[in-house]
Amino acid sequence: MLQKPILWGLPTTLSIEPTTSCNLRCPECPSGLRSFSRPTGMLQEKLFEQVIDQVKGHLSWLHLYFQGEPFLNPRFLEMVHYADSKGIFTSTSTNAHYLGEKQVKEIFKSGLKQLIVSMDGITQEVYEAYRIGGNLEKVQQGLQLLIAERKKAGLQFPRIVLQFLVTGQNEHQIPALKTWAKELEVDELQLKTTQIYDFENGSDLIPKDLGYSRYVPVGNGKWKLKNRLENKCWRMWEGAVVTWDGRVVPCCFDKDAKHVMGELKNESLSGIWNSLPYLTFRKQLLSDRTQIEICRNCTE
Ligand code: SF4
Repeated sequence: MLQKPILWGLPTTLSIEPTTSCNLRCPECPSGLRSFSRPTGMLQEKLFEQVIDQVKGHLSWLHLYFQGEPFLNPRFLEMVHYADSKGIFTSTSTNAHYLGEKQVKEIFKSGLKQLIVSMDGITQEVYEAYRIGGNLEKVQQGLQLLIAERKKAGLQFPRIVLQFLVTGQNEHQIPALKTWAKELEVDELQLKTTQIYDFENGSDLIPKDLGYSRYVPVGNGKWKLKNRLENKCWRMWEGAVVTWDGRVVPCCFDKDAKHVMGELKNESLSGIWNSLPYLTFRKQLLSDRTQIEICRNCTE
């Protein structure tokens, strides 16, 4: 690391947001809380293809996800197919409420390479404590169907990653979850720490097992981020996030697009990637990260 905001070329990974809409109401998510201060809507194919055409041959990995539930965009799988046809590895994240027979067939046809399924409980009561409005049976049936059909068709993709956000309410279910995931033959189980907006005064969402927590107590009921905030961030040199309406933001922690580096309706991605706002942001991060609000509650 040169400790200077110098860079070349284009990002090698991108996250693009299919939609800000969501069918659930998770408490630490602006889609769930309907609390965005930026415009909300659906990514249009024209904009998507325009971005892909700029990065094909360079981009190695595309995560079609930021906020919202991707399967609510009616053109979502067509977009996956477009990126796949350009040789880009495609991944997405879902709450798995839309994995019926028809969708499963269409997923296979789209060429999607990785599907991350969020499931944070193995009983309805625990699951819906965080995934408010969610139906666990639907999630589990969808996953079972997808894995069974993939096996029947002799397909390797999409890889299925089961993602479990560990909280104070579900940590006791981890052993049972591991057994369930093994029986189902998911390709990977990820136990993830949960980001909490107002962690300073503690929260029921912080697990007792601090191995699964981003935060540690400092006494008097106060908490702090576990990691030391170093003035560096590999993401700034590797990837960017595009919102549904074409704003480029530095990373997925900028959920409300407070740090817009440029808009794709006005500029090319390469122009934005090398623009003055982006260079200034990187420079600020390298000199004093604590001055950037999103970087103060970040584990990278
Ligand atoms: S919040 Fe800041 S430190 Fe964290 S990934 Fe984003 S830019 Fe990097």
